[in-house]
Amino acid sequence: APFQVVDVHELLDATLVMLGGKIGHGVRVVREYDRSLPPLPGYAAELNQVWTNLVDNAVAAMGGTGTLTVRTGLDGDRLVVRIADTGPGIPAEVRTRIFEPFFTTKPVGEGTGLGLDISWRIVVDKHHGDIRVESTPGHTEFEVRLPLRQP
Ligand code: ADP
Ligand code: MG
Repeated sequence: APFQVVDVHELLDATLVMLGGKIGHGVRVVREYDRSLPPLPGYAAELNQVWTNLVDNAVAAMGGTGTLTVRTGLDGDRLVVRIADTGPGIPAEVRTRIFEPFFTTKPVGEGTGLGLDISWRIVVDKHHGDIRVESTPGHTEFEVRLPLRQP
């Protein structure tokens, strides 16, 4: 199927509404959107899956209390979405494995270990973008970069 033209802020807002119950009242949600962003060529349903996975992980890491920050911006010919949390962070030995299929640190029944594997495939393989993570104790940030022009 050909790429759709998506409004990334609409998708992010829909994800935050959908996960509202899970995010709960103890988590402050901060949205810093660059409202001048152009529309993005992409698959809306798949990109929603990426935001859902990243927000779900962030919320789980914070255990009910903290700040979730969702930022958007432009970097040259790429649209950038950053999802940050104030959870404990990802230890270095875990960080090298988080994009592997079935890798999880969650108790059996709580995590499939597929969220980041699927997100990687959607962003990198299907949209020719990239995902990076930066984490220190008390701060974890996933950055998704998506090309505004598809080859
Ligand atoms: P799952 O959520 O089912 O465990 P994912 O692929 O979504 O699978 O994530 C893999 C692992 O990456 C998680 O189990 C967790 O250890 C780690 N992780 C992902 N996001 C975060 C985050 N924001 N803070 C801390 N750890 C994280
Ligand atoms: Mg997950």
